[in-house]
Amino acid sequence: METTNTKTYTKPEKFVYYFAAGEAEGNAGMKNTLGGKGANLAEMTAIGLPVPPGFTISTDICTAYYAEGSKLPDWVKPEVLKALSRVETKIGKKFGDTTNPLLVSVRSGARASMPGMMDTILNLGLNDQTVEGLAKSSNNPRFAWDSYRRFIQMYSDVVMGMNSSLLEVTLEDLKAEKGIHLDTDLSTDDLKKLVKKFKDMVQQMTGQSFPSDPMEQLWGAINAVFKSWNTARAITYRELHDIPAAWGTAVNVQSMVFGNLGDDSATGVAFTRDPSTGAKKFYGEFLVNAQGEDVVAGIRTPQPISLLSEIMPEPYKDLETIYKKLETYFKDMQDIEFTIEKNKLWMLQTRNGKRTAKAALQIACDMIDEKLITEEEAILRLDPSSLDQLLHPTLDPKAAKTILAKGLPASPGGVCGQIVFTPEDAVEWKEQGKKVILVRIETSPEDIAGMVAAQGILTSRGGMTSHAAVVARGMGKCCVAGCSEVEVDYTNEQMRAKGYNLKKGDVITLDGSTGEIYLGEVKTIEPKLDGAFDRLMKMADGVRRLKVRTNADTPKDAQTARNFGAEGIGLCRTEHMFFGADRIDAVREMIIAETKSERERALEKLLPMQRDDFYQLFKIMEGFPVTIRLLDPPLHEFVPHTDEEIQHFAQRVKMDANRVKAKIQALHEFNPMLGHRGCRLAVTFPEIYQMQSRAIAEAAAKLTSEGMKLVPEIMIPLIATAKELEMLRAQTVAVVETVMKETKTKFDYQVGTMIELPRAAVTAHEIAKHADFFSFGTNDLTQTTLGLSRDDSGRFLGSYVSQGIFAKDPFVSIDQVGVGTLVKTGVDLGRQAKGQLKVGVCGEHGGDPDSIEFFENVNLDYVSCSPFRVPIARLAAAKAHLKRKKK
Ligand code: PEP
Ligand code: MG
Repeated sequence: METTNTKTYTKPEKFVYYFAAGEAEGNAGMKNTLGGKGANLAEMTAIGLPVPPGFTISTDICTAYYAEGSKLPDWVKPEVLKALSRVETKIGKKFGDTTNPLLVSVRSGARASMPGMMDTILNLGLNDQTVEGLAKSSNNPRFAWDSYRRFIQMYSDVVMGMNSSLLEVTLEDLKAEKGIHLDTDLSTDDLKKLVKKFKDMVQQMTGQSFPSDPMEQLWGAINAVFKSWNTARAITYRELHDIPAAWGTAVNVQSMVFGNLGDDSATGVAFTRDPSTGAKKFYGEFLVNAQGEDVVAGIRTPQPISLLSEIMPEPYKDLETIYKKLETYFKDMQDIEFTIEKNKLWMLQTRNGKRTAKAALQIACDMIDEKLITEEEAILRLDPSSLDQLLHPTLDPKAAKTILAKGLPASPGGVCGQIVFTPEDAVEWKEQGKKVILVRIETSPEDIAGMVAAQGILTSRGGMTSHAAVVARGMGKCCVAGCSEVEVDYTNEQMRAKGYNLKKGDVITLDGSTGEIYLGEVKTIEPKLDGAFDRLMKMADGVRRLKVRTNADTPKDAQTARNFGAEGIGLCRTEHMFFGADRIDAVREMIIAETKSERERALEKLLPMQRDDFYQLFKIMEGFPVTIRLLDPPLHEFVPHTDEEIQHFAQRVKMDANRVKAKIQALHEFNPMLGHRGCRLAVTFPEIYQMQSRAIAEAAAKLTSEGMKLVPEIMIPLIATAKELEMLRAQTVAVVETVMKETKTKFDYQVGTMIELPRAAVTAHEIAKHADFFSFGTNDLTQTTLGLSRDDSGRFLGSYVSQGIFAKDPFVSIDQVGVGTLVKTGVDLGRQAKGQLKVGVCGEHGGDPDSIEFFENVNLDYVSCSPFRVPIARLAAAKAHLKRKKK
């Protein structure tokens, strides 16, 4: 449940913070208490910028509000009233005064900017009497009544929950009736009529009269801000951005300044640099004679900020000085809101501006050159995950789209193609020059060829570390996994979603970065890596301690990873090499074999192929370490399944189909993930690992004789006991030594193990005696520690995250307390037994920035991740190291 709904809170000593020129009670460092907006408003007033006076009610009160059962505690009110009266004194106007009334805006403001929260309420404090006072004091009745009708529109929508489009329609009808286009062309009388009509409509629709008491309006708005913290859209936004429910929001109450006082008034928003390219150029827009919401609402087209210098040169000059000051002060690109009231500039907000990854890199490099920030500060500020945006083609944000469903964003990129339901069709259609999306309930190693052929993969089941997700990420291929809203019907080759029934050949588009699936083709844009990218990557390399390797099983992946800066291979899953059309039959013969000699005959066919696989990988890696993992999955994953496939296979290899079938049935397991897989295969069939070890050694020998210096690392998976490793290591060493004798070569090599079972982690000191290195297989370690199937839990893990049981999907970001403790234990015990034991991680977590920070802190030597995550990991490792040094 939302953790804000707790009964336990302590009454804070101070919770209302006043701000006015030179009198700020808060500062920019108080975001946790004041929210981002409140903290920066305080800071701006402190550094002498023109900010309308006001006060911030702290986030603690949001906690108290929920603890009291969605109600403001009584002790809040006196403090709010005190702050309000300070604002009144400062401005020389009184709230609710009928001659010269103070009006305020009420805004939400959480620690992190949250677009899902409550919309701003402006002009609060107006009623039938104060509006007359405002008309007189401003000498502008039209402005006063325009402000009043805006207030009713906003308040009835945001606080009273009325559908505001009804009032908007009434306004539009009136404009049509009068033959005018702009709100600004409405006369005072028109506005008066509208106000009356609006109030009547509010009464009719909500059954409540519009509150005329300004104090009642204020409490209504403050309550509404706190309430908006738990609306469905705010909760969704928090989930998407990992914002804890416990943070709560603050409320900012600020005296109004008016951009709608005439042609010498305006309102606008701006970025101190271009948020999409990062170019050093003041970027923004404004509207003359308007209030804030007009700029965002798109009713009138705002003008580019450059024009402001012509229309209002004086306030523009001030704005220029201020934005430069703000950037230098906050040392970051700012997103600002301002209002010009009768040629005087007022600042309403400043915050670090959101930007694309491309802009983030450009701005970081420029600010280093401008000596505004250091290289370390630049690295600390970048979000490694956002680099993903740069590495894959993405959907054109401007393109029109019809959403079909949403699954897990398993592997980024934007792709479109015709849907097919079998890997065979994927391969065949690709050969015909078509672009396809492979749609499966879930994938298995058998589908690899189809996955390679497809532009992208969509599965209706499986989580972020399901086969489809892991393999697609490894290939840098777009994948949406576990999309339960899509019903896949293999029999009729159809998929259903949102009432659409799509057949084989229909076109869909996948967004692997958001998990969204769209109907038809959506335009994409190609990635471009520029100088800033390279420059920051090099800076990160100069800082980080952790090495970054890649998980790669093909020369293409290995090359991609090298190009992205990988320093070796941390995991080559050799099973992925078994599915090639030239060898799958030999693999199956090996599995079906009844006798050792039959098995050896099949393995002999595989040996030269594997030798060549390894030779190529070693060569691409140019002497960087390469870890080859010996066969891991249960054997039944490789055998044919349907009667037809069995018949064909039996014919090709001249075997009795019944014998093949019986053997396949015998391989069936109820829990294959906990069954006959990993090193357990080699305990019963040593020949498989022996063949692979020989292929590795022969490839290394060949390269050694060609003059390359390399140290192959042979890795044994799924070790639970030291005895298993002791035995299998001895076998491996014997094979490698034999090859060296046979080939008269000498090279160094290592034999190590994966730590992916809890027992291995807690007995790591025993296991380390037989290992030259450890690599944590955190996919299986998470699966076995939590007892959660990595292939099935995607269906319900979402609920675990939304209900706060897990902060994040533990297959995506390591469960630091549980699985992480096992990792730490494994590292410490392993190194107790062997001081300099090399330790890395090759589970999916090796590419997740938060997990990388954890791995840095438990002293791993390297992380290994999919090729397209290598740049992310390089930056995350640098950031983690800097953070650690700071501590
Ligand atoms: C792991 O379990 O973390 C791992 C890397 O191995 P696989 O994903 O191949 O099981
Ligand atoms: Mg594993």
